[in-house]
Amino acid sequence: ISIEGLRKVFTANKTETTAVDDVTLSIKQGDIFGVIGYSGAGKSTFVRLLNRLEEPTGGKIFIRNQEITALKKNELRLARQDIGMVFQHFNLLWSRTVKENIAFPLEIAGVEKEERNQRVQSLIDLVGLSGKEATYPSQLSGGQKQRVGIARALANKPSVLLCDEATSALDPETTNSILDLLVDINQQLGLTIILITHEMRVIRKICNQVAVMENGKVVEHGNVLDVFAHP
Ligand code: ADP
Ligand code: ADP
Repeated sequence: ISIEGLRKVFTANKTETTAVDDVTLSIKQGDIFGVIGYSGAGKSTFVRLLNRLEEPTGGKIFIRNQEITALKKNELRLARQDIGMVFQHFNLLWSRTVKENIAFPLEIAGVEKEERNQRVQSLIDLVGLSGKEATYPSQLSGGQKQRVGIARALANKPSVLLCDEATSALDPETTNSILDLLVDINQQLGLTIILITHEMRVIRKICNQVAVMENGKVVEHGNVLDVFAHP
């Protein structure tokens, strides 16, 4: 992933806020890349720009040599299948079962039923939810809900997984189990994970690269051990 001069300016009530301010970064395939910073630093806007949930004000984004920022609206749907996203509050469909939630992006992508069922079952096994296929989200714990969110994000076999404060609604023990799952997925599927957090502990536990954001800018980035070597 290559990001060049990325900017996002919000205008509300005639006030401009520069949420992402001239960010240039590259992220290697297979990295677990952490983005850390205080609330309001621009982390969430930054990852939402990567799949164009937010439209950039300026700059370029390339993912596997495809210029995401040059795609037309109708080309985005396909490109987004390559970019899974996991949310802090899960964003599950509450009237659908675990199995139906995970199958949903596959239905939209037009994957036929037999293949869909096979993929959903292997995703359920991968995230450790065997036996919960017919359960509704309201009957699951926070950690189990996030496992559904992760399985759904992986359904279309993306090469990039974006995690926006994916463990922030979870207790420390559940957070650890979800982080372990992300490491498993990274190793088994070889995909790139970009993970936003305000917790240093999360970065130290699973990331190999980190960017520190402040006021929309990346003020430091590199290997986690180097960036955090000095107090
Ligand atoms: P973080 O994820 O680090 O908490 P955000 O990306 O959510 O930071 O926000 C960065 C800045 O952009 C903040 O000042 C926030 O108030 C502002 N911002 C975010 N989204 C919007 C929006 N839709 N409209 C106006 N300002 C926004
Ligand atoms: P957690 O407490 O694990 O973070 P949430 O805050 O996401 O879980 O959800 C709390 C409860 O509210 C759950 O039992 C969930 O079923 C219900 N809930 C959350 N969002 C919705 C929604 N959009 N529609 C219906 N029920 C919801």
